[in-house]
Amino acid sequence: EVKRSGRGSVHNYDKMLLTEQERRLSVTQALRRALSADEFYIEYQPVIDATRGDIIAYEALLRWNSAVLGTVPPDEFIPIAEESALIVDIGEWCMRCACQTLHDHTEIPVTTKIAINVSIRQIVMPNFPDMVSRILTETGLASNRLVLEVTESIFEKRQTSQISAVLDHLHAMEVGIHIDDFGTGYSSLSRLHEIHVDAVKIDKSFVLSMDENARVVIEAAILIAHRFGLKVIAEGIETPQQRAELRAMGVDAYQGYFFARPGQLPCRDIHWQTDPDLPA
Ligand code: C2E
Ligand code: MG
Ligand code: MG
Ligand code: MG
Repeated sequence: EVKRSGRGSVHNYDKMLLTEQERRLSVTQALRRALSADEFYIEYQPVIDATRGDIIAYEALLRWNSAVLGTVPPDEFIPIAEESALIVDIGEWCMRCACQTLHDHTEIPVTTKIAINVSIRQIVMPNFPDMVSRILTETGLASNRLVLEVTESIFEKRQTSQISAVLDHLHAMEVGIHIDDFGTGYSSLSRLHEIHVDAVKIDKSFVLSMDENARVVIEAAILIAHRFGLKVIAEGIETPQQRAELRAMGVDAYQGYFFARPGQLPCRDIHWQTDPDLPA
């Protein structure tokens, strides 16, 4: 086997040193076959209501176990799938699988929702709302149990009027829209109330650091979101201190390892009971 060396960050793979570019190429090639080879599965992480302490939703998080590359984290393969347009088919598979799974778990209350991450690439597909409604019909899941998480990049795109028309359509279908990773990108705050958004998810980087700057961003995000009538979800909560502080700031819902790691449905061991501040 040839040992190749490259500049920048190198990944050790099969005793070969791959450059970043070579790694991307092998990920792209393996991704092309991943769907038909049935290499994807989904983990579910609960979202917990801040006042009642119950599970209000599960977020579907895509996992890839490649026969060639082993486990590849979503932060690595999602951007590559987005670049190559493979995200359209992968995203459709993920939505169908998650909707079916939630629907089939009849012990889960019908008020519990499923949150799916959706890429811009999918939203701007001409038939995106039709695809969503076909999945809801096929799986039997009520449309008001589906939430789509989109990032702030919807504000950067040139196709904003097209995107807001799609969000209008989804809203009319009673599908929820959440802005994911809020605070990390460019958000047109004035337009936050022009488009149909139900909640913002404060990015985990702010929750994890929780320094002075992060507090300012979180407080501002909560103020703006609440003034516009949106709910606020905080992700990445790992400690009881973070939870207590976010509760004091007025966050509506929590997500993070402190409560539960992503796993299989249904989630049976929520750790919030160990927190004396939470309702019994
Ligand atoms: P995200 O949507 O912001 O998802 C939250 C991420 O934070 C997940 O990482 C989750 O496992 C992680 N997380 C949750 N609680 C904690 C915590 O307490 N501490 C820390 N350090 N991390 C926590 P994951 O599963 O690696 O997903 C990464 C990103 O990949 C997601 O970020 C999302 O942007 C993307 N992604 C995942 N599945 C899909 C998908 O089906 N479609 C699309 N388009 N993107 C996806
Ligand atoms: Mg998300
Ligand atoms: Mg997020
Ligand atoms: Mg994220």
